[in-house]
Amino acid sequence: MTGYLPAAARYGGMTYQRCGRSGVRLPAIALGLWHNFGGVDVFENSRAMVRRAFDLGITHFDLANNYGPPPGSAEETFGRIFLDDLADHRDELIISTKAGYLMWPGPYGEWGSRKYLIGSLDQSLRRLGVDYVDIFYSHRPDPETPLEETMGALDFAVRSGRALYAGISSYGPAETRAAIAILKRLGTPCLIHQPKYNMLDRHIENGLLGVLEEEGIGCIAFSPLAQGLLTDRYLAGVPADSRAAKPTGVLTVDHVSERAVETARRLTILAQRRAQTLAQMALAWVLRHPAITSALVGASRVEHVDAAVDALSHRAFSSDEIAAIDRILEA
Ligand code: NDP
Repeated sequence: MTGYLPAAARYGGMTYQRCGRSGVRLPAIALGLWHNFGGVDVFENSRAMVRRAFDLGITHFDLANNYGPPPGSAEETFGRIFLDDLADHRDELIISTKAGYLMWPGPYGEWGSRKYLIGSLDQSLRRLGVDYVDIFYSHRPDPETPLEETMGALDFAVRSGRALYAGISSYGPAETRAAIAILKRLGTPCLIHQPKYNMLDRHIENGLLGVLEEEGIGCIAFSPLAQGLLTDRYLAGVPADSRAAKPTGVLTVDHVSERAVETARRLTILAQRRAQTLAQMALAWVLRHPAITSALVGASRVEHVDAAVDALSHRAFSSDEIAAIDRILEA
């Protein structure tokens, strides 16, 4: 124990939204531990971000087996923070993890087999130091494994007490419909879908969001800030401590194109008129869609967590603002 006492007023300022037609309400802002919580990162900074998030009513922390680097270390970091600071609050937390991407060598270390998913979940539980996770996701669809097997593994994860709910990530509209039907038949409903969604990537507006609304499944949008491109981070070059400058990860300096920076500049002017930063407007924009339960943000410092939660104080858009944003995005 570290002497950390969560803020008494932590539930006062957060908005909780029902996850589809389930019994669970999730915070409109959730914190993802993909970057900046690995073994290579400064532990005290990671801890400070988790504490700040919990103090602000962020009850949902999102992980995956492979988050780090090295893979697995973000779960270990969270496990350590949980043990020190949050263990007394287990029932106030939604901890999610996933399996789907490469985690260990050999034929059983990735994709969607029952062998991989259950083995990986057991490893995750050990790293996190918890008896169960709240949501276990199939991280990506596997074109070679029967969907029945992958969904059967999620059903087993829930029935065996390793997870409370099942989720899917990055499944397309047709696969999503099929997955939902199988899970329904098995008696373990799909709680939530986790797709990428932000101003620069609107692909889920063409089908997936409609499926989720129809089926009553929640939706948590990952990379709502396009990994930092929809913030002020790159308006004056590529800072040395930014994600694009770091050797690990998928965002590189090539993504910080003239066009991306110009779009961010133009959007910033609109955000300023709303008395928000671009990051805050980008989060409010993701949350404007009625099918979106939560925006799943990343952060590299405590101030990012504060800024994300502050975005909730101005979520509404006028039709003129929406049209102006559309014009910038279509340019
Ligand atoms: P974001 O799009 O929110 O990007 C986060 C990054 O944006 C931060 O690391 C920081 O960059 C920058 N940033 C955040 N807030 C601010 C701010 N106020 N001002 C300036 N810059 C800011 O999300 P992520 O790409 O990190 O994804 C979020 C989560 O989604 C992940 O942690 C993970 O849980 C999940 N995810 C799921 C995937 C899946 O396949 N299911 C795939 C990817 C993510 P910097 O570090 O440069 O400071």
